[in-house]
Amino acid sequence: MSSLMGQMMRMPLMISSLLLHAARHAGDTEIVSKRVEGDLHRYTYRDAELRARKVAQALARLGCRPGDRVATLAWNGYRHFEIYYGASGSQLVCHTINPRLFPEQIAWIANDATDQVLCFDATFLPLVEKLAPAMSTVKHFVLMTDRAHMPESSKIANLLCYEDLVEAENGDWAWPEFDENTASSICYTSGTTGHPKGAVYSHRSSVLHAYAAALPDAMGCSSADVILPVVPMFHVNAWGLPYSAPLVGAKLVFPGPHLDGKSLHELFESEGVTFSAGVPTVWLGVINHMKAKELKLSTLRRTVIGGSACPPAMMRTLEDEFDVQVIHAWGMTELSPLGTLSKLKAKHQALPLEAKHRLLEKQGRSIYGIDMCIVGNDGRPLPWDGRASGDLLVRGCWVIDGYFGRDDSPLREVDGRQWFPTGDVATIDADGFMQITDRSKDVIKSGGEWISSIDLENIAMAHPAVMEAAAIACPHPKWDERPLLVVVRRPGKELSREEMLAYFEGRIAKWQIPDDVVFIDEIPHTATGKMLKLKLREQFRDHKLPTV
Ligand code: AMP
Repeated sequence: MSSLMGQMMRMPLMISSLLLHAARHAGDTEIVSKRVEGDLHRYTYRDAELRARKVAQALARLGCRPGDRVATLAWNGYRHFEIYYGASGSQLVCHTINPRLFPEQIAWIANDATDQVLCFDATFLPLVEKLAPAMSTVKHFVLMTDRAHMPESSKIANLLCYEDLVEAENGDWAWPEFDENTASSICYTSGTTGHPKGAVYSHRSSVLHAYAAALPDAMGCSSADVILPVVPMFHVNAWGLPYSAPLVGAKLVFPGPHLDGKSLHELFESEGVTFSAGVPTVWLGVINHMKAKELKLSTLRRTVIGGSACPPAMMRTLEDEFDVQVIHAWGMTELSPLGTLSKLKAKHQALPLEAKHRLLEKQGRSIYGIDMCIVGNDGRPLPWDGRASGDLLVRGCWVIDGYFGRDDSPLREVDGRQWFPTGDVATIDADGFMQITDRSKDVIKSGGEWISSIDLENIAMAHPAVMEAAAIACPHPKWDERPLLVVVRRPGKELSREEMLAYFEGRIAKWQIPDDVVFIDEIPHTATGKMLKLKLREQFRDHKLPTV
């Protein structure tokens, strides 16, 4: 007997519907952006929706066809927001590239994604001029500025002006509806071994994530909020805020490239920001500035901190001294990105303050749409008792099931179902609070950005005086982690710390160069010859970096 089917409209979940909803129901709500030039730009959701339609028309006029990739190298701003919607909403794929990567890596990513168009902020003109010849698939380079700010000449032939493209269109165009599983955007992660890998999001996954992220036990967004995403739009879509804000009709404030403590504090205050989100390093800058100048936060009431573990001391400072509730969150590019957020349940309200703090310092509980489990070395699920610690696996509506252009599946089977291994090691307590205790993947996270330990080791090992090298994460008060290079010299060869560090210059982005080098006689190995990083990390846990 066949099942009875529901008789509800099959309305596909389209990213464009979020902006359309905001334009209709919060049409006069503002989007304020600090531009690269330093001035403030203001307009409304109604204006943004019209201009996003014009962007869609302009991209079609440039010859883009469904599925084509439109890349961005841009800060958080209204033009970037328009491309998010104009590209995805017209069945193209918005590919946000992280400009902090090493230039060769940026070109590699653009080629891997076969980007057709690259839109970029003026900040990145010298970078794009250098990389353009290596970006073999990009047909159009678009500078995200107006005619008055276009350079007189550029090494890029036929450099296009964003505002010229938008102004040439009339907006007489309607958002199409298509299969909700169509790709909407791509984000590359370097938080894995080897080359960066692309996570391809769909309209369905992005809209469901936007719903879930806005819930009270998640980010708790509402139309009464003024939201300033500090987390960049090139970092997993600014944790989905450019989608959740229009969904609820909240005012949006974009900080552009001005991410220092002083600029952010000024913007929080002048725009009446109530809610923000960013990595711990950013908040350190804001706190230091406020303390030095004896400033307060008059409207900011809560912030999500994630991307790296939020130090408990930072939570205390923001809550006790600045009256800002900290919501500790965990996520990853492969989850677009939210997985868990730390919010108390009703039964926890009566706990003593200390006990509440201990819970809120954990990475939190999963939101509906994400399921998680921890498994031991034998691959079997471990109990949720807050003590057993194992590999954290997740599954859900916004978890990838493969990487762009790769046939090998990253998924693992547990109890007959497919799960995505996060590379994090965690405990989960009986109330579902997950706490990260370690990381099984071999990468270093500095200020919210990944540094590949393998890249560092490969460079070091190419030096004629190096026999073996291991790059490990060393705790750092500002950057959370910084790379420490542990080196075994070749017998009879001389090599100083300074010579080793100088060897990295020009071979990797400056901020990825290790902070320090230590020389030892032997690196510990497993029986199969793999370096025992865990042991090294323990050995150098208290190593004092010269940058501290
Ligand atoms: P990304 O893909 O760059 O967003 O990085 C995701 C990874 O960052 C996770 O797998 C964790 O290793 C780490 N991470 C994210 N949030 C947290 C957090 N709140 N605490 C500890 N590690 C985190």
